[in-house]
Amino acid sequence: MNKAYIGLGSNIFPRKFFIESALRKIALEKGITLKGRSSVYDTHPIGNSLQGRYLNSVVEVETSLGPHELLSRLLRIEKTLGRVRQGKNGPRTIDLDILLYGDRVIRDNNIAIPHPRMHERDFVIFGMNEISPMAIHPVLNMAIGDIHNKRQMKIIRTPREAHSYVSSLRQKGRRVGFVPTMGCLHEGHLSLVKKARCENDVVAISIFVNPAQFGPREDYKRYPRNFIEDKKLAKRAGVDIIFYPDTKNMYTPTHSTYVDAEDISENLCGRFRPGHFRGVATVIAKLFNIIPADNVYFGQKDAQQAFIIKRMARDLNIPVNIRILPTVREKDGLATSSRNAYLSKKERREAAVLFKSLLLAKDLIRGGERRAANIIKRMKDSINKNSSAKIEYIAIVDTAGLKDIKTLKGEVLIALAAYFGKTRLIDNSIIKVK
Ligand code: AMP
Repeated sequence: MNKAYIGLGSNIFPRKFFIESALRKIALEKGITLKGRSSVYDTHPIGNSLQGRYLNSVVEVETSLGPHELLSRLLRIEKTLGRVRQGKNGPRTIDLDILLYGDRVIRDNNIAIPHPRMHERDFVIFGMNEISPMAIHPVLNMAIGDIHNKRQMKIIRTPREAHSYVSSLRQKGRRVGFVPTMGCLHEGHLSLVKKARCENDVVAISIFVNPAQFGPREDYKRYPRNFIEDKKLAKRAGVDIIFYPDTKNMYTPTHSTYVDAEDISENLCGRFRPGHFRGVATVIAKLFNIIPADNVYFGQKDAQQAFIIKRMARDLNIPVNIRILPTVREKDGLATSSRNAYLSKKERREAAVLFKSLLLAKDLIRGGERRAANIIKRMKDSINKNSSAKIEYIAIVDTAGLKDIKTLKGEVLIALAAYFGKTRLIDNSIIKVK
């Protein structure tokens, strides 16, 4: 049996259908066993940029077929999926390339293995790095993971440079994804980067602990910062650009313009953190201007923040597509957060009660309960019984305006904040109620 890697690409709609059909057909071939597959990447066309964008993916197979036979099977699959070969880099329903075949190096009239440009193509390197970072490129004599880690990552310190660099990429037709963060990166942030990596040609993140969103008695000074580790994690996740400004470059001494998403900022966390969302909306508006991205990525974990940013971008006509992604959790359900590092062992153990209270709410709703007050009371009881947490609030609101509701109907947000010692944690869940 030989291990081989196959690259798949499609840029004729429906692209996803062609990729999935090709995968099914590969899996059905005698002598080929599918072993793993990467994510699907949406990529800028190579060479002729007038043609449509591609979806690309990589699969690992085990095969008893020789490389020439494997190739002829792939060509047959291409044909059954309507591929007409129109010269190099032309549009195609499906393109199937052998990237690696064991450690063989083959160059003849029909076949070139390893694929001669595989190491220059981001989607190949990202895809292979996901499924097989230890695979060796036999010509470069390098592990795929090492080729991946050799990619350049640019660190930009000033708004002016960030804007001009990202603008120039956009002008070249590159799709830019942007993930704003306050650093101290964890799996929650990295899930946003991973999604951005799949949907864009260039991924930028910002690392900036924004003083404007911390109250005078909050943890601005204490907030964890670890740029060296963040750089490593970002690079491993395939980030292209880190925007890492100094505070003085973001807020001049005479800074006097703020963005306030009225109404929607008032309830939930806004009630207890006056000025917080004004600081958030302001810095995000600034970041959207500094990094003119196509797509931006935020976590559902900060639900009110996500609603406010969507509202702000709509109200101020900021042309960006906002993507809200699910909350990443630790094994016991606690939402991953930079602030979890503050927790003592006991607090950390207890903190899982927050997620459990959200599950309890879901159960109650499933059981027919529709009265918000009853659900909130049961959640509070459960948290108080099982932890030393001080609940700041538990609220059930509609997802249109984030206003408290008495009776659950349609889409609702259940949100909460609680202190474990000095550490304030938040969590939430969006539920569709029939
Ligand atoms: P922060 O660095 O805390 O400002 O977070 C930066 C982005 O990561 C925000 O969009 C957060 O909502 C998102 N984020 C933080 N924690 C998580 C998590 N556990 N799951 C998903 N996204 C998260």
